Amino acid sequence: MTPQAIPARRRRAVVVGAGPVGCLAALMLAKRGWEVSLYEARPDPRLSSAKAASQQRSINLAISHRGISAIQAIDGSMAQRFMQTAIPMKGRMIHQLDGKWNSQLYDRDGQCINSIDRALLSEYFVNEVSASENIRVFFQHKVLAVDFDCRNITIEDTNNALTTTPSFDFCVGADGSYSVVRRQLMRVVRMNYQQEYIKHEYMELKMPASQDDEGCMKFALDPNHLHIWPRHSYMLIALPNKDCTFTCTLFAPSEELDRLNTPDIFLNWFRLNFPDALQEIGEKNLIHDFTHNPRSSLICTKLNPYHYKDRAILLGDAAHSMVPFYGQGLNCGLEDVRILNILFNQESAMSTASELLTDQEDEQMKRVLSRYSQERHKDLLAINELAMDNYVEMRHLVTTPIYLARKALDNL
Ligand code: FAD
Repeated sequence: MTPQAIPARRRRAVVVGAGPVGCLAALMLAKRGWEVSLYEARPDPRLSSAKAASQQRSINLAISHRGISAIQAIDGSMAQRFMQTAIPMKGRMIHQLDGKWNSQLYDRDGQCINSIDRALLSEYFVNEVSASENIRVFFQHKVLAVDFDCRNITIEDTNNALTTTPSFDFCVGADGSYSVVRRQLMRVVRMNYQQEYIKHEYMELKMPASQDDEGCMKFALDPNHLHIWPRHSYMLIALPNKDCTFTCTLFAPSEELDRLNTPDIFLNWFRLNFPDALQEIGEKNLIHDFTHNPRSSLICTKLNPYHYKDRAILLGDAAHSMVPFYGQGLNCGLEDVRILNILFNQESAMSTASELLTDQEDEQMKRVLSRYSQERHKDLLAINELAMDNYVEMRHLVTTPIYLARKALDNL
């Protein structure tokens, strides 16, 4: 018996999570002609109340060629606009305990990584999705559950305490490290899943702008470097912001941070380990950040497969959280979208805007998603491990004579 054709209609995708990866996935699907609904649990980051909350934390990110080329692959002009807000960092600046420093270039041909403010990045992506005709964005809409076999999703509008259950053809889980979509997917997929909390936690500290002789704002350190104070079992790093400040992140074992349990103990420890950084941060600012900013843990997750039949996929941190020491978590999440787009392109007969849907599974979608799980997994495992290895490199190896000699040769 031939399956019954139903009238043509646009395919419906739901994307869960309007973080950078969810937004880029929504844009990619919209460009392919899908009708996209993007659900985000948090308020619109462009609202002043959300901005005020995000300003308490000023975390910035390093975006590399991997991430930029992923954005470029979906929309070239968008990548150009996006890069205007970034600060290029051509190398690492290693700060020794005695106050000496040395620059280690990332690339002898001048390739850089780029520092970008996380809040600006979110706003930027949200502007792009909001401007797309094929995307409807729902803020303060928290996904509670997904029924993949009935193809519907349960969403709570947290503003109005209303619950709805829209249907979908395709569901993208881009809802971060503690993904609800992943949890739901585990019920129907024989998914191997592994998670690990590392022994280290992190805390953000702000280094203010300094002033030049005419009273104008300037950076306290060279803005075109990622600054590292490696101290073997812990380290401090600093990335530049457009307003001439630096966001510093202190990484240390939980046990060490437990011991530093009063502002005075913390200040003395900081003075001993990072005297030159303290000079730029200032004691008052340091104590303020120590008492106001949270300590956060670092999780690493690995899983496989990433998809279900012809109808669901996990992208970004929902699929692979990694420790931040390689600066590739987001870059890799954006790359997920680029790879999925390539696989869609390779299914040449893949329909875009509208298609006669049948009650059968979509074999082309099934093939694309299955290829994604198969072909992407080894790369995701590799980058996850590189990220873990780079922690030892950043906090310890960069100070060893053999590493310094190798770097000097590289830069010749
Ligand atoms: P997220 O940014 O986590 O977005 C997920 C979104 O889903 C959120 O907006 C959330 O509110 C929403 N959501 C969650 N649950 C629900 C739900 N039930 N319903 C609806 N919405 C929901 N990466 C780099 O590439 N370079 C770096 O330099 C770098 N530095 C880092 C430094 C630190 C200290 C840390 C912790 C991470 C760093 N990363 C870096 C990693 C990077 O932050 C993540 O990989 C990236 O944010 C992942 O993006 P995402 O869109 O997948 O997830």
